[in-house]
Amino acid sequence: MQRYFVEEKNNNKFILNKEDSYHITRVMRMKIGEKIEIVSSKKTHICSITVLEPLVEAEIQETLKENNELNCSVTLVQSLVKEQKMDYILQKATELGVSEIIPLITTRSVVKMDKKEIKKIERWQKIVKEASEQSKRNQIPTIKNLVTISELSKITGYDVKLLCTVRENTKNIKNLLSNSIEGAKMIVVVGPEGGFTEQEEEQLIKGGFETVSLGSSVLRTETAPLFIMSVVRYIDMR
Ligand code: SAM
Repeated sequence: MQRYFVEEKNNNKFILNKEDSYHITRVMRMKIGEKIEIVSSKKTHICSITVLEPLVEAEIQETLKENNELNCSVTLVQSLVKEQKMDYILQKATELGVSEIIPLITTRSVVKMDKKEIKKIERWQKIVKEASEQSKRNQIPTIKNLVTISELSKITGYDVKLLCTVRENTKNIKNLLSNSIEGAKMIVVVGPEGGFTEQEEEQLIKGGFETVSLGSSVLRTETAPLFIMSVVRYIDMR
């Protein structure tokens, strides 16, 4: 069943936005009485379509007990990469259960961006919303504002702070995350194609980030977050 995220509930009813209404009526060609899943405040409701135009309205028939979210939370700090790679990382990390994504600007980032680029963030939000619907998540990951290394080094509020690095003699992720991660709030930083500078890594280590290795192969920047999310997902499996 097709899933949609809707923020507000009016009594027993949801009104979908323009884009989702278009998808239901023009792409899916659904009719009155057909069922859709609506997730609102992390709860999943089976709803029946009652109105098609101008905006689709749907009434709750049943509320499910499902929870497809991880038992821990992972914030991915992803160094800026080219558009297609960033889109891929956002989509796949969302499918794998990421909670939050923070774009990071580094010395070796090939893509430049400033904090006022609302359009790009809006596009990314659309990608994670669609990936959340497709993968049947109960929440859409939040995309935070772009940060610098200096801002990131001062970030607080996390139980586990990891910096992915290809430096030698670094503890690997298997050893670091082998204990229970249930309920943990984790933040993981991945570098750009050219890696971090030594100075950037030192700044993050001073800020309380622990270096972590993802194994002896050097992974592409778009592979690293997917590997991390897969490891977390494996440990988190019930
Ligand atoms: N030559 C670059 C360097 O010296 O860092 C390689 C960068 S790698 C293509 C991009 C990013 O992915 C790295 O900055 C790191 O965050 C992450 N990464 C890739 N392979 C990794 C590994 N085996 N262990 C830990 N992090 C890794």
